[in-house]
Amino acid sequence: MPTEVRGARTCPLLSRRALLAGGAGAVAAGLSGSLAVPALASDPATGGDGSFGMLVDLTECVGCRSCVYACQEANGWTGDPERPAIDGDQWTAVREVELPGDPGHVRYVRTQCFHCLDPACASACPVGALHKTPEGPVVYDAGRCIGCRYCMVACPFHIPRYQWETPLPLVAKCIMCAPRLERGESPACAEACPTGATTFGRRSELIAVARKRIADHPDRYVPRIYGLTEAGGTSWLYLSDVPFEELGFASVGSTPPPQKTQAVMEKVPVVAVGVAALMAVVRWWEGARESRDEARDARERAGTPSGKEPGA
Ligand code: SF4
Ligand code: SF4
Repeated sequence: MPTEVRGARTCPLLSRRALLAGGAGAVAAGLSGSLAVPALASDPATGGDGSFGMLVDLTECVGCRSCVYACQEANGWTGDPERPAIDGDQWTAVREVELPGDPGHVRYVRTQCFHCLDPACASACPVGALHKTPEGPVVYDAGRCIGCRYCMVACPFHIPRYQWETPLPLVAKCIMCAPRLERGESPACAEACPTGATTFGRRSELIAVARKRIADHPDRYVPRIYGLTEAGGTSWLYLSDVPFEELGFASVGSTPPPQKTQAVMEKVPVVAVGVAALMAVVRWWEGARESRDEARDARERAGTPSGKEPGA
């Protein structure tokens, strides 16, 4: 049974030291490619596959946004951490929700990718730019992305964002700090949280902690762990004292979206491949145009007439 430590800066279930030493010898070995993490559990409610996850206890969140600032520092995105919504330049956000019928009382709600056990974004992507790792994160390969944005349509939580403002836009979302996990570290947001509202650990152990909190404090929590079975189960789990729908959480059901969409996708492979090829051409053209613009700007800065190379 895991030991629960409230208010710790690092995950009580899997501290950085534990990650670096024994318990996550599995991680250190594992995340470099040889972690003995079996395939995803068939029962998402047990989370017994050894993968990692996060537990966000909304009753513990004080809205300080340390998690958001830490994410920005760790991952280098450029948005405003005080903004209440994620975007192409912001991977996580904290929004303030005034409780219905209780003016003046608020809850702070973190938003980021839920890292589905069976992610719709990954199954919708025609070129495999998104995939679920055995360790838990759903990661993104920018080098493969062709900008078709099927992932944005497929995600039941409406998480992936597109960098519309940049010349070469990419899809943006939380990657559960996969590079930090590879180094044996906790995700930056969990490490930064001063109250333990965001904690990191094995998903199965986080489920046990969440169930214990509900059992020990039935007056404090609604009897539900959001993410246990939503969309087939997600690596991020939430506890709350307010019904999740009142806080704006999506009602997504428990069927993994890929099971719903697979039949449709299988019937349109030619269309999908055609669109994918078209989008690849568009992205190539955008890249070529960007290169031309940069070359022109360089010539203009050097005082060289357009169309002639310096020195010609
Ligand atoms: S929440 Fe959305 S973006 Fe994240 S893994 Fe699930 S489907 Fe993909
Ligand atoms: S897990 Fe990492 S990428 Fe995701 S919100 Fe936390 S700090 Fe940001």
